[in-house]
Amino acid sequence: MNTKKKKLTTSFGAPVDDDQNSITAGTTGPVLLQDVHLIDKLAHFNRERIPERIVHAKGAGAFGYFEVTHDLIKYTKAKFLSEVGKRTELVVRFSTVGGEKGSADAERDPRGFAVKLYTEEGNYDFVGNNTPVFFIRDPLKFPDFIHTQKRDPATNLKDPDMFWDFLSLTPESIHQVTILFSDRGTPKSHRHMNGYSGHSFMWYNEKEEYVWVKIHFKTAQGIQNLTRQEAEILKGRDPDHATRDLYEAIERGDYPTWNVFIQIMTPEEAETYRFNPFDITKVWPHGDYPLKPVGKMVLNRNPTNYFTDVEQAAFSPGNLVPGIAPSPDKMLQGRLFSYHDAHRYRLGANFQQLPVNAPKVKVLNYQRDGFMRLKSDFEGAPNYYPNTFGGPAPDSTAKWPSLKVSGKGARYAYTHPNDDFEQPRTLYRKVMTDVDRDHLIGNIVDHLGHAKKEIQLRQIVLFYKVDPEYGTRVADGLGMDIEEIKRSLNQ
Ligand code: NDP
Repeated sequence: MNTKKKKLTTSFGAPVDDDQNSITAGTTGPVLLQDVHLIDKLAHFNRERIPERIVHAKGAGAFGYFEVTHDLIKYTKAKFLSEVGKRTELVVRFSTVGGEKGSADAERDPRGFAVKLYTEEGNYDFVGNNTPVFFIRDPLKFPDFIHTQKRDPATNLKDPDMFWDFLSLTPESIHQVTILFSDRGTPKSHRHMNGYSGHSFMWYNEKEEYVWVKIHFKTAQGIQNLTRQEAEILKGRDPDHATRDLYEAIERGDYPTWNVFIQIMTPEEAETYRFNPFDITKVWPHGDYPLKPVGKMVLNRNPTNYFTDVEQAAFSPGNLVPGIAPSPDKMLQGRLFSYHDAHRYRLGANFQQLPVNAPKVKVLNYQRDGFMRLKSDFEGAPNYYPNTFGGPAPDSTAKWPSLKVSGKGARYAYTHPNDDFEQPRTLYRKVMTDVDRDHLIGNIVDHLGHAKKEIQLRQIVLFYKVDPEYGTRVADGLGMDIEEIKRSLNQ
């Protein structure tokens, strides 16, 4: 053990003579303003908290690596995917969505599944969830949707009426609602869940040939979930159970692993596919688009400072590298703006320079200054472009393939012929077991039972449209009259 005492300093590095007694006028007199160390300490303490994330406030993180296991050159020129066996360092953050920073890990909620890979071409972020679909498919609805999952502005209470009011008026949510209220809505831990890109992305090769890709991280620990009753107990007994589980598993060398797969759709197939491939309320059924293995992710290092390593970690689906580009998924398009914007607000204009966010490659551009500028890689270059003084220049090989679009700019309602009930119907009828269905109905009844009758009725209609049995069982559980439901369906 190092017995040599480390010296305490002020934040400006000067030695501190005493950290127990403020400077006072005499032994019992008032404190003197000249106690710079005291003021430095109190003032910094007042500023220790930054705004919590508006969504995904409660989270846990870890470091690790991604390793390529299959040849992908045909599909993408991304350098980190260029060679079997190649490893890329990464940071991960798992989270719940609606709760505040101190909320319980066992809440029924989708889980955020965000990965930042420090590639040699800049940072590539995968910002997915543990569910393959989402509640809405237009970013214009997002703030309203999130308001309903948070607190009532008057009472400051979570409100089952606003929760179900919005969902029952938003039929496209029914697929995600069915997954959320299955036991997958309460994963046993962050290690026991999958991560899905939800959105499709464009992967393109050196010849600018592209395909559409969805990405799946499948847990090697196996899917394990909590029942509603187990989750209720855990919320009180150990609100940080998933944070603890992740940390302890890594500490004991039981490194959590996910096998990574992609689904691939050609642009030609996308034009005629029976589901809109860019609608995030839909999956691409495996029967049509099988999973193709690409690599694995291993988490093998815990954060040493939660704030700098996890709280300040800023992920964005807009952090893309050559070989990967966005799709026209409307929700993705909204997120390309929202995530970077949220980080600028929460962490400041220079958030990309914070150690956990900083790319491992040199960043050279014409952005200058701003609050908390940490460093300069400018090499004396001017702060404007074009210039004749050796400043960095764009590289046209980094351009995305051009995307064919047509039509007039307008606000279009969703017009794709396929209905929103088919996929949840498959999930309810074919994928779920009897036990899954029992738990699903119980979980819904327990929550929806707290909403007003008229809202319950409207939501039951949606369950009924997925499958009459599904709607009838929820109605029975709530003591509602199924004939009343049928009458409202015929109206
Ligand atoms: P498959 O039978 O090929 O796939 C079913 C999928 O459902 C599996 O990936 C399984 O995930 C997952 N699953 C199992 N139990 C549940 C549950 N309680 N809640 C949510 N997902 C569950 O069928 P399809 O590909 O045709 O998909 C059928 C339905 O399965 C979809 O409509 C969708 O609701 C759901 N699903 C589909 C996914 C896809 O990408 N195609 C991904 C996840 C769910 P796992 O193997 O990881 O346990």
